[in-house]
Amino acid sequence: MSEQSPVVSALIEALGPDAVILGEALSQRATSYWDARPTRAQALVRPGSTEDVSRVLKICADWNQPLVTQGGQTCCTLGADPRAEELILSTERMNAIESIDALGGTATVQAGAILQTVQEALAEQDLLFPLDLGARGSCTIGGNTATNAGGINVLRYGMMRNLVLGLEAVLADGTVVSSMNQMLKNNAGYDLKQLFIGTEGTLGVVTRVVLRLFPLPRSRHTALVALDSFEQASQLLRTLQKDLAGSLSAYEVMWGTYYRGVTGEGGHRPPLTRDYPFYALLETEGADPEGDGERFQCVIERVFEDGLIVDAVLPKSEGERRALWDIRENFEMITSCTPCYLYDVSLPISDMETYADQVIRSVKQQWPDGECYVFGHMADGNLHLFVRPGIDGDFHSDSDRLVYEPLKQFNGSVSAEHGIGVEKKPWLGHSRTEVELALMRSLKQTLDPHNLLNPGRVL
Ligand SMILES: Cc1cc2nc3c(=O)[nH]c(=O)nc-3n(C[C@H](O)[C@H](O)[C@H](O)COP(=O)(O)OP(=O)(O)OC[C@H]3O[C@@H](n4cnc5c(N)ncnc54)[C@H](O)[C@@H]3O)c2cc1C
Repeated sequence: MSEQSPVVSALIEALGPDAVILGEALSQRATSYWDARPTRAQALVRPGSTEDVSRVLKICADWNQPLVTQGGQTCCTLGADPRAEELILSTERMNAIESIDALGGTATVQAGAILQTVQEALAEQDLLFPLDLGARGSCTIGGNTATNAGGINVLRYGMMRNLVLGLEAVLADGTVVSSMNQMLKNNAGYDLKQLFIGTEGTLGVVTRVVLRLFPLPRSRHTALVALDSFEQASQLLRTLQKDLAGSLSAYEVMWGTYYRGVTGEGGHRPPLTRDYPFYALLETEGADPEGDGERFQCVIERVFEDGLIVDAVLPKSEGERRALWDIRENFEMITSCTPCYLYDVSLPISDMETYADQVIRSVKQQWPDGECYVFGHMADGNLHLFVRPGIDGDFHSDSDRLVYEPLKQFNGSVSAEHGIGVEKKPWLGHSRTEVELALMRSLKQTLDPHNLLNPGRVL
């Protein structure tokens, strides 16, 4: 599309030249967080308001122009990566926190607001927006909504679906659907916001969201513990859930290979020796700094005496706490050796060890120099796997087969929190029935009959 093309001309006329990025300026942008190659697309449009988004979508409908919506571009499944024939709709100029209601526990936020900016603005008012994930500094509230993001606090607060009270979205024909509910309870008919949560931008563009807030915790206690077996990791989780009375907010398990992969030479400093088979990073949040600290310490001592854990380290400062979380969240030392394939699956906790063993074994059989690193949000039934074949080449589909095929016997899901995007599309039928898929297609056909919104993603 050249600058003179009818769609670009119409967009410039409707939104002004500053809102449309083309040519050289466009190719200076990276394709995504994961892919530094230049962006290739027809143009990128940056609406500043819901009305602008509606204008853009009407123009696209008039010209039958497909488009992809982009937030922070941190998506792990190529869902926001543009195709050459597509227009990009970026929410980057729609980033305001419009209002905060401390009493009602809500914030009204535009879709392009960065998650960390929202968290920090709310913390200044003693409020917590509990969604939290490694991409917090780049991902947006709109992207979090569209992917139904999970992250490290799901155990206590739920996924994005549980944290969105209302939203506004624009349909493929430009119609604005305003469903900006602020109440915890509203059973007046269908809960239409759910059409846009977790549907990865295929049914509409999310423009504004009403978020559910919580009081900012007064205390936070963290520990990294070492375990001799997965059985211990499971028993420890049950014990902590009972003994810490609902204050457990994170329980992340790392297989020994993952811990060794991210610590040591060229990696993070290992706070515990590197030879244990399993590690868990756990965190609690509470309202009584002194009492919570004592209770936490007591529970950790008791599980140590009972032989549930074999070693532990408790951070003494925010810096030390951050360093522990870096082990879990910053894994470039593994992913920078390519090829490396990233997975996000879910299955019952009781089947995790058998499943992981099976995948680790098949990776070794397929690629003797290969490695499979396992870690994740164990308490949510969610594991991440990084498969590195250890040789050059494109082995993505072989790797997918090794990871996804054994899931079927455990009734697991090929996507716990990252969505389907483009990458997992061939495997969607592994986790959904034909009837479910037909219903999804029928919703898509009703809301976007000309297949203009994120075409080819999910379905
Ligand atoms: C280091 C790292 C750690 C991560 N950890 C986690 C984790 O723990 N849990 C987790 O769930 N995810 C995680 N992710 C994945 C990613 O951060 C989330 O999927 C996030 O919610 C995507 O937000 P985004 O703004 O970057 O969206 P994008 O990547 O820009 O888009 C994601 C999808 O949503 C659509 N979309 C974006 N904005 C809108 C909108 N306003 N309206 C409609 N559709 C829209 C896009 O078209 C695309 O399909 C991680 C990613 C990285 C890089």
